[in-house]
Amino acid sequence: MRLLIMGPPGAGKGTQAKAVADHFGVPAISTGDIFRANVGEGTPLGIEAKRYMDAGEYVPDEVTNNMVRDRIAEPDAKTGFLLDGYPRTLAQVTELDDMVEATGHRIDAVLCLTVDSEALISRLLKRAEIEGRADDNEEVIRRRQEVYVEETEPLIAVYAERGLVVSVDGMGEIADVQQRIFDALDSLPES
Ligand code: AMP
Repeated sequence: MRLLIMGPPGAGKGTQAKAVADHFGVPAISTGDIFRANVGEGTPLGIEAKRYMDAGEYVPDEVTNNMVRDRIAEPDAKTGFLLDGYPRTLAQVTELDDMVEATGHRIDAVLCLTVDSEALISRLLKRAEIEGRADDNEEVIRRRQEVYVEETEPLIAVYAERGLVVSVDGMGEIADVQQRIFDALDSLPES
């Protein structure tokens, strides 16, 4: 399985990505988590990424693409992966197409979590309290939503044209959302 999970910041992608990836026995690869790990370790990649992350902006495509290319070339991703938070720009879509085609495979499905925008902001503010993420203050949260709408939301139409989008209502309890996701994925035609 080669899956993508998409949705605005705060839609619960990370939580659901892990459950779905476990279910299919593939790694959940979160670009945000990889950036945060690098920030924590103070690597050159982390130092560069932090500037953008703290402002709610996207890390440049070239940096992000190279990081994903390396990550999906690792042995645990050979049989599949679930990408959480990538691609986020049209340039990243093209780059991912190249990466996947080069291995003779294709993306199987793009899971889109839908949520209402008021709920998003309050979820993110709550997460900010719990996790203390530097990019979770209100101003940055709003900027991240704007960037999502401008840069990432249009990608859903691109994947919809390819017939890959599986939309799932992301509102409600985590377990309920998870069940909806599994039901939707189970009803996909076998490839
Ligand atoms: P996330 O945890 O997925 O919300 O990502 C946190 C931050 O990491 C984002 O706000 C961006 O600054 C950066 N980031 C994560 N994924 C990408 C990506 N695919 N392209 C550019 N920046 C990204």
